[in-house]
Amino acid sequence: MNRPLTHKINVAIDGPAGAGKSTVARLVAEKLGYIYVDTGAMYRTVTLKALRDGADLKDAAALRRIAERLDIKLLPESGGQRVLMDGEDVTEKIRSAEVTAAVSTVASVPEVRRILVKLQQDMALRRGVVMDGRDIGTNVMPDAEVKVFMTASVRVRAERRWKEIRGQDPKATVESLMEAIERRDRADSERETSPLRRADDALLLDTSHISAE
Ligand code: C5P
Repeated sequence: MNRPLTHKINVAIDGPAGAGKSTVARLVAEKLGYIYVDTGAMYRTVTLKALRDGADLKDAAALRRIAERLDIKLLPESGGQRVLMDGEDVTEKIRSAEVTAAVSTVASVPEVRRILVKLQQDMALRRGVVMDGRDIGTNVMPDAEVKVFMTASVRVRAERRWKEIRGQDPKATVESLMEAIERRDRADSERETSPLRRADDALLLDTSHISAE
């Protein structure tokens, strides 16, 4: 039976880097009139601030202080979101190679995760949220009505990334991106606190050979 959705639900999308989570999450949120929350952007924003401050990325207390004081705002706009860090628009800056290389280290710090997870859970309270990340179905929204674990082969993921960035970074190759993606997947899957893992009740979706639509 096809019941109309009269009440809002939460949708959790997890998976490794470049599996297509944010593209699909954005489309779904737009179709349903839901709010899209890119949790990776939040870890990236803390990382950008830590790099700018010259913080020692091994100093958990310093990273916690940065995360505590930082004002992160995700502003939905058509087809995506803008990210504000203490009022500054950092939407593009958080995608830099430097931030991407350091973000898994910052995201492995339990105190940083505790602060960001609390913010994410507050955003999901009123439901009507499509949230993507690494620990959304397992930890942030274990009660989400829909959970998807999205994945794709490392080569396909690297090829997608390469098409996105070849304009800005002509030196990037599919091989170098495969290496970087594998390194980040390993760090995200092997960390102690909330590692990347498919929730038992998440639908597995391999996007290697299917389009976002
Ligand atoms: O999704 P994106 O690739 O932008 O995420 C950047 C990084 O942030 C991930 O590699 C991971 O280390 C961290 N992250 C996380 N938990 C989430 C979302 C992202 O640890 N829920």
